[in-house]
Amino acid sequence: MESVLNPAVNTYSNPSDLRITDMRFCNVRGLPMHCILMKLYTNQGLIGYGEVRDGASKQYALQLKHILIGENPCNIDKIFRRIKQFGGPARQAGGVSAVEVALWDLAGKAYGLPVYRLLGGKFRDKIRIYCDTDVDGKHTGTDMGNALKARMEMGFTFLKMDLGLGILRGIPGAVSAPLGYMDEPSEIAAKMEAAKAAGDMMEYRYWKNRMYDYNNVPHPLTGIHVTELGFDALEQYVKEVRDVVGYEVPLAIDHFGHIGLEDSIKLCRRIEKYNLAWAEDLIPWQLTDQYAILRRSTTVPICTGEDIYLKEGFKPLLEAGGVAVIHPDVLSTGGILETKKIGDLAADHGCAMAIHMAESPIGCLAAVHTAAASENFTALEFHSVDVPEWNDIYDDGLPKPLVQNGYITVPERPGLGIETLNDEVLAKYVHPEIPGMWEPTDAWDNDPCHDRTWS
Ligand SMILES: [Mg+2]
Repeated sequence: MESVLNPAVNTYSNPSDLRITDMRFCNVRGLPMHCILMKLYTNQGLIGYGEVRDGASKQYALQLKHILIGENPCNIDKIFRRIKQFGGPARQAGGVSAVEVALWDLAGKAYGLPVYRLLGGKFRDKIRIYCDTDVDGKHTGTDMGNALKARMEMGFTFLKMDLGLGILRGIPGAVSAPLGYMDEPSEIAAKMEAAKAAGDMMEYRYWKNRMYDYNNVPHPLTGIHVTELGFDALEQYVKEVRDVVGYEVPLAIDHFGHIGLEDSIKLCRRIEKYNLAWAEDLIPWQLTDQYAILRRSTTVPICTGEDIYLKEGFKPLLEAGGVAVIHPDVLSTGGILETKKIGDLAADHGCAMAIHMAESPIGCLAAVHTAAASENFTALEFHSVDVPEWNDIYDDGLPKPLVQNGYITVPERPGLGIETLNDEVLAKYVHPEIPGMWEPTDAWDNDPCHDRTWS
């Protein structure tokens, strides 16, 4: 039914009386990662789509359900301020961020407006996508250059690749580390496999936790150092890539492995002349003082942010001058509005904002609307170029594929832009360890928890 006063307003949904009634999930794997799709249901038939960050758990969102039922989803900021206490860095922010995104989708659908319009309008009509590119197995910089060149031929105008310790594997004398330390992961993996094969899941979990311990030693504590020979090989790799793709296209680098501050400085100084867009997550984002030193020690633009929760998390790094580019993930910051606020804060410090994204079209469109509404946005990450069915999970009202010639056009449909999800396609990708699609979650409806953070 159209409003008499304003035909653009859809009064079939009465925003003032809209209420959240239910929350359900579908865990998929391979679109492109383990993605946790969420629906928020309402008393007026509107459904809002959200997504818990890739690789996290729906339980981060389920714990919020008892707070949300009965609330008006259009009161986004109020609800966000109530639930933000239940988020944390990286995947821990998954629940809060998923809910925040679904609230924006519902508000947009209730008022008949695309999310970017509710954020204050857009700075651009299409969003530049940067293509994160991998080459499997042992390979050269020329191999990587050719893979990146193929992306450019598809229309991509911004590139990213890994430049890590993996490149040095098998090169004698390239890395120094406590003897035996570098072999520990394969030894632990073998023990995990053996325990699984024997059906001893207690033993399997024990070794899985030891792998967690190994991977969670912060960079400065690993004792891993790259030798001059190793730096020669890394520099040669970047040179070979540039020899193929040329020097004009922006090229960012990521996933170095657990080297500390001093090795990060040495690496950056070696590769300054290859004109890099940024070097990402060289050291853990929590090390504010070390980031400030790193940034002042090289002309390579320093970047981090995909695991930082809330504007408060970015503030110390920006104030310390520790980054040139921030790289938040909308599903880890606390959502769409918080990411826009983070972008605006970064702009005040003269920093650009790229956006991290390894999620389904839901998480992707949440990032697209945020990018459209943020002045200092540069490029949005994308991992699904080689996953064509990624484009089949949403209805035909959006372009297929969503990324065309290296860009996503900002949708004009209400909310995020997805009207319905294709359950037939999703069914093919349901996570084998988390079966079921949109199952009831009634067990999470009530919780007498007293969750005020002060007394
Ligand atoms: Mg990254």
